[in-house]
Amino acid sequence: MRPVLLITGASSGIGAACARLAATRGYDLVLNYRSNHALADAVGRDAEMAGARVLLCQADVADPDAITDMFAQIDVEFGQLDALINNAGIVDVAVPVTELTHARLRRMFDTNVIGAILVAGEAVSRMQAQGDDGAIVNISSAAARLGSAHEYVDYAASKAAIDTFTKGLADAVAAEGIRVMSLRPGVIETDIHAKGGEPGRALRVAAKVPMQRAGSAIEVANAALWLLSDEASYVTGSTLDVSGGR
Ligand code: NAD
Repeated sequence: MRPVLLITGASSGIGAACARLAATRGYDLVLNYRSNHALADAVGRDAEMAGARVLLCQADVADPDAITDMFAQIDVEFGQLDALINNAGIVDVAVPVTELTHARLRRMFDTNVIGAILVAGEAVSRMQAQGDDGAIVNISSAAARLGSAHEYVDYAASKAAIDTFTKGLADAVAAEGIRVMSLRPGVIETDIHAKGGEPGRALRVAAKVPMQRAGSAIEVANAALWLLSDEASYVTGSTLDVSGGR
């Protein structure tokens, strides 16, 4: 039986690259997206062409009821879940810390932290019930380590929470054969920089990267799929930087 992988935020960027690659590695896929059905559908069709069975699941991970509904659909359609790439995330325009509003912080942490933790919890409960090995990759950020002073301190703090959550969850479920890792991309060329109000950010930051370039979504996907694979069978609780040395 093919393993089933859930990817949140799968309609674009790193999530879409993970989906297309995972389909070629023998996974069936649950592709979560927030709103852009056409984009998610295009990713899903590519994955089907590569041999995957695909379920598209619309759900806002900042909405706990939507997460519950998504897992109910997974239970009905697949009845199994073996792997998760907890990828959905947002950034907001850079502002000084004195201008961070409660509403902005609520939205950021509801999505990047609370949503990711609730999704991981639902996934772990399926993996525990199956009694088989499972693997989870939480997409963090190099910002968790760097702090992103003068840029996106709230975003960096949300990703640091994910790294700490990863370590705690990994310790809690290691004896059950469930591995949990976090992956910290550096600056990767995706649309997230435009969403953060700075479309040229990848180019600007590339000069600070020891490898002198931004990364691509497929370079992150390659690392994520390796972490999920049996080749990483003795890796858990770890954080992998995919950041060109930054
Ligand atoms: P992206 O904007 O293309 O991808 C983010 C995806 O998450 C989008 O498809 C978006 O629709 C989805 N999403 C956002 N909020 C959601 C919600 N509430 N419910 C469901 N889906 C939601 O950008 P990306 O660069 O591919 O980002 C993917 C992940 O990588 C994010 O967690 C991001 O923080 C992280 N990351 C990106 C970079 C980078 O430089 N691109 C660096 C470090 C970390």
